[in-house]
Amino acid sequence: MRVVVLGAGVIGIATAYELARDGHDVTVVDRHPEAARETSFANGGQLSAHHGEPLAGPGALPQALRWLGRKDAPLTYRLRLDPALWSWTLDFLAQCPEPRFWDNTAKMLRVALYSRERLHETLDRETVAFDHLNHGIITLYQDARAFDRALDEIRAMKELGSERQALDRKGCFELEPALAHASTYFAGGVLTPGDESGDCRAFTLHLARRCAEMGVTFKYDTTVTGLERDGWRVARARTHGEAIEGDAFVLALGSYSAPMLKTLDLRLPVYPAKGYSVTIPVTNDEMAPKVSITSLEHRLVFSRLGNHLRAAGLLEFNGFDTCIDDRRARVALRGALQVFPDAGNADGAEFWTGLRPLTPDGVPVIGRARQENLILNTGHGMLGWTMAMGSARISADLVAGHAPSINMDGLGWERFA
Ligand SMILES: Cc1cc2nc3c(=O)[nH]c(=O)nc-3n(C[C@H](O)[C@H](O)[C@H](O)COP(=O)(O)OP(=O)(O)OC[C@H]3O[C@@H](n4cnc5c(N)ncnc54)[C@H](O)[C@@H]3O)c2cc1C
Repeated sequence: MRVVVLGAGVIGIATAYELARDGHDVTVVDRHPEAARETSFANGGQLSAHHGEPLAGPGALPQALRWLGRKDAPLTYRLRLDPALWSWTLDFLAQCPEPRFWDNTAKMLRVALYSRERLHETLDRETVAFDHLNHGIITLYQDARAFDRALDEIRAMKELGSERQALDRKGCFELEPALAHASTYFAGGVLTPGDESGDCRAFTLHLARRCAEMGVTFKYDTTVTGLERDGWRVARARTHGEAIEGDAFVLALGSYSAPMLKTLDLRLPVYPAKGYSVTIPVTNDEMAPKVSITSLEHRLVFSRLGNHLRAAGLLEFNGFDTCIDDRRARVALRGALQVFPDAGNADGAEFWTGLRPLTPDGVPVIGRARQENLILNTGHGMLGWTMAMGSARISADLVAGHAPSINMDGLGWERFA
């Protein structure tokens, strides 16, 4: 079958890889000259399959209100004349009550844990250099009451398949000695031993090269301007040059998936949630972590990527703006220097921003669109790197007309209809 994959981020490339393995004639289209040039470029690096919690939860609104108006807040929300943002926000608030939170957590864990399994199958087959570490993730709790609540959640998460262990301060230091130098207090931590970290861009570029070896055609520097229908099917993708025809299409355009679907009159609430990362050259090995860390106080994640330390986080709702606001970027750097002082050379820090394709419920959109030959694989938000390989396999199964290996309830676009 001729399958056209729109988007060469980690989601599009992973999907092209699975489709090529299935023997399809695959074409990948992207507006950049190579893969992983947008949100998959310099993310937090965490493969956090055991962290399936969405943003929308009982504590989300009170927390957001506490941060309102603070320039250094981890979350900023710019009131704009943007109906897409308003309706997304209303949808988000509707997902905050506790029952919705647990339902969405279960769905996210389902995709994330399946993706972990698929990633390991891929790594058994391919030799990929992507600074992969599998020492788990420690989530640090600065607030003692939040830590107590986290202890209560361990049992609930276990029932959903997420393995977690509580660590006191000493336990955190034993597992990650670099934490002993932190200039910030924390009450304790929760370890997810099954979690990992690695460089998303390096992985994606490797898989793209493997795709090329398997015969996948790449149309880079090609902007898709719309999708054209032929009855209940998508016939072609319009570009500034040729129209690209296919028997099936996979939409993996990250945050740009929603505007693209408007050309088919489909409303998809995927909104860009901007984040920042800072990558610091490590100059002192002992002071830089090898276990991936999440600091809840800073709302930052830390991953060791070879001889670099990456800190990533912050959340901004401000449309498709990707400018680096120096003040915001320095919030990430300051956080990194508080948790890991002297780990690296801050003068050599590189800043980056990316737009997370975020759904109101945090759950990705994977499934068939109204057009039977269009598969949606988008909206992975905070966990696109973590969920890439499972989402790719599911999409390839749908293209082939096979039933995916996991329960697909609540993953499709219909939940927003
Ligand atoms: C600060 C930050 C930290 C993060 N940390 C983590 C983490 O630790 N772990 C994790 O699992 N996830 C993390 N994420 C999320 C993860 O990076 C994303 O979910 C993932 O990269 C999304 O991949 P994607 O392929 O859907 O989108 P993208 O990587 O953005 O790919 C979409 C592609 O579509 C192309 N495109 C768009 N429109 C068009 C068009 N009209 N024509 C042609 N091409 C087009 C773009 O060029 C792009 O290459 C983080 C994100 C951010 C911003």
